[in-house]
Amino acid sequence: MSVVELTGVTKSYPGGVIALDDVSLTIEPGEMVAVVGASGSGKSTLLNLMGTLDRPTSGTVTIDGVRADRLGDKALSVLRAQRIGFVFQQSFLADRLTASQNVATGLLYAGVPRRRREALALAALERVGLAHRAGHRPHEMSGGERQRVGIARALVTRPALVLADEPTGALDSTNGAAVIDLFRELHAAGTTIAVITH
Ligand code: ADP
Ligand code: MG
Repeated sequence: MSVVELTGVTKSYPGGVIALDDVSLTIEPGEMVAVVGASGSGKSTLLNLMGTLDRPTSGTVTIDGVRADRLGDKALSVLRAQRIGFVFQQSFLADRLTASQNVATGLLYAGVPRRRREALALAALERVGLAHRAGHRPHEMSGGERQRVGIARALVTRPALVLADEPTGALDSTNGAAVIDLFRELHAAGTTIAVITH
């Protein structure tokens, strides 16, 4: 079963912009896909549709075997919480929470009992090489470390699909390269990833 299947997807915005025009795309389990293109070419629109954050104007969106375009908002938020991990340019961590508490917030809507959240958060931090930072708050970490905490939060539910929209866009080249290396490692370990780079 494919993780993502888009067929004939079109997305138009009010004012006549056609951001996506008849896009069909399949992502198989374990694939790592890069979405590239000029600014304004529809990359974020495509990722938001794969992430069910937005709905197509026409066409079908199937995520992990579920026809997302047919689901109501409530069922969609459950699908997202359980099967999709998001990484954005900024990870928007809560400054009052430690790294592990920030990661654990990724489990709030996934129906995981409180006690298990902490252990899963630590395991996710370990996957991104930050176990030793579990008790630190965001302001005590570098930009690259904060982004890795954001990636751990996206991974903590063991999602079928990780989506990243320009995850290195706010980092210097060294930290950016480290984040891309991390995605490669996660891919090598079996994670399915779609990442926008430019
Ligand atoms: P990219 O991520 O490749 O830069 P986007 O997917 O953000 O491109 O945007 C694709 C096109 O859709 C652009 O022309 C953009 O201006 C337009 N667009 C994106 N979001 C909206 C929106 N909410 N309302 C109207 N137009 C939008
Ligand atoms: Mg974009």
